[in-house]
Amino acid sequence: MEYLEMLKRARNNIPEKRSGSRFEIPKAVTYASGKVTFIKNFAEISRSVRRNSGEIAKFLFKELGVPGEMKGNELALNGKIGDRMINQRIEEYVSQFVMCRECGRPDTDIMKEGKFSFIKCQACGARRSFRP
Ligand SMILES: [Zn+2]
Repeated sequence: MEYLEMLKRARNNIPEKRSGSRFEIPKAVTYASGKVTFIKNFAEISRSVRRNSGEIAKFLFKELGVPGEMKGNELALNGKIGDRMINQRIEEYVSQFVMCRECGRPDTDIMKEGKFSFIKCQACGARRSFRP
């Protein structure tokens, strides 16, 4: 009896939100070939933020001001761009199009209704619109 009581208490003491563990985006692993910068783990990054790699690529082309293209699992950017810059832009993408503003979780999906796009959170149900 006492043991069960202790178990119960121990369980109650586990915080609901793991406040210490923030959502980790894999860092971009890049290499340069001539004047082209490749993001080696681009497909992995896209998977972990649950977004279409083409959408993220479009965002990066625009934000970094360079054209590029997907090559298999890698993203080629036509310019010399440092890791730091790329990671910053990816983080921006995630905060704009992935993170839920209500609960701060990344478990969101993009939904379209007519001309509008929404980010819907699977964790708390909040949704917000954005311009694609
Ligand atoms: Zn949420």
